[in-house]
Amino acid sequence: MRRYDYLIVGAGLFGSVFAQRMTEMGKDCLIIEKRPHVGGNIYTRETEGIQVHMYGPHIFHTVHAHVWEYVNRFAKFNHFRYEPLAVYEGRLYHLPFNMNTFHEMWDVRTPEEARKILEKQRAEIKGQPRNLEEQAVSLVGRDIYRILIQGYTEKQWGRPCSELPGFIIRRLPLRMRYDNNYFDDPYQGIPIGGYTRMVERMLKGIPVELNTDFFEDREHFRRIADTILYTGPLDAYFDYCYGPLEYRSLRFETETLGMENYQGAAGVNYTERDVPFTRITEHKHFEFGTQKKTVITREYPLEWKKGEEPYYPVNDEKNVEIYEKYRELADREEKVLMGGRLADYLYYNMDSVVRAALRLADQEERKRGG
Ligand code: FAD
Ligand code: UDP
Repeated sequence: MRRYDYLIVGAGLFGSVFAQRMTEMGKDCLIIEKRPHVGGNIYTRETEGIQVHMYGPHIFHTVHAHVWEYVNRFAKFNHFRYEPLAVYEGRLYHLPFNMNTFHEMWDVRTPEEARKILEKQRAEIKGQPRNLEEQAVSLVGRDIYRILIQGYTEKQWGRPCSELPGFIIRRLPLRMRYDNNYFDDPYQGIPIGGYTRMVERMLKGIPVELNTDFFEDREHFRRIADTILYTGPLDAYFDYCYGPLEYRSLRFETETLGMENYQGAAGVNYTERDVPFTRITEHKHFEFGTQKKTVITREYPLEWKKGEEPYYPVNDEKNVEIYEKYRELADREEKVLMGGRLADYLYYNMDSVVRAALRLADQEERKRGG
């Protein structure tokens, strides 16, 4: 029986980066992946010459030069900038919250005019915001909260904003400039040819067994490797002994349309509560495509049930408490490393995943080096 230095559970971004680095350092790695493809949630598949983001729109962005240099070894990135729009009752607004949004919302033109309205509306919240609603109003005021945040967030998370943690909304920039770039990061783009190709390049020469679930034969997988890196859900690893961690799930409805350009932007958010989907992605715009046809995806948020794909961890108090208990068990595991958005139960962006996987690989190398 062949033995490996590392068995990596999951060919998502975390598992792939870790496997790439360890292989480069001379270690033997085997990856198993329960899905029929590599890439995890960043998987892209070509349809009509368009790279379709099969698990939701993914834009790479980072402040970390070393992360950017690392991913650029495996793909050439284009100059795409994410500038999504929001629709509410038939009107379009620019995102993230910036002078264009304030102009559309209040017909103001100068930062000073916008600041006065924002300050007045923010004053409603006294003291530290205790939940997402208070956090949002204290950042952007009641109007923007009602039109651009409340409906979208309650659909996305399936809970009232008054019961959600404020940090979810702090991801979004607020700018007193006319600037629709969704991210502040200096390095941004989309890998030309798709994320799948980027991951395949990382995995060149590394054996990958697809359609293989770790839990179908844990003992076998333990026997064939010195160390396991597990990037699946933390609660599943411990047979849900403290109960399941909650996630939000998504349903993607993708269709090919016989027209060149459906919405003129990669992303349009539907912020009304009554529209059942949160956004429509038009994939060709990530690569400035000029094909005759177009592919769009509507994204419907769902409560997660066992057996469905978990997407967003619900990092509220109750779940974080359960997570801590699993974490204690994980820390006691010998020869098992854990990482990635599912094992860490964190709302990670891709660059944080790459960073954490590179760090873990370095730690392993140091440990082995003495
Ligand atoms: P995953 O991609 O989930 O990989 C884990 C892999 O492990 C999966 O392939 C899974 O099938 C496999 N696995 C699990 N259990 C087992 C098992 N028992 N046996 C075998 N295999 C198993 N980030 C950005 O930076 N920019 C964005 O624009 C962005 N947009 C996003 C949009 C959406 C809708 C979502 C949900 C996330 C977005 N992200 C974005 C975050 C990004 O998707 C993640 O940071 C990244 O994909 C996480 O990689 P991972 O390897 O940790 O997890
Ligand atoms: N959000 C919102 N309105 C929007 C876009 C985002 O209220 O039009 C809120 C929502 O709560 C969301 C959070 O901001 O969960 C973070 O948005 P982001 O676009 O970063 O979410 P992701 O792309 O990760 O789903």
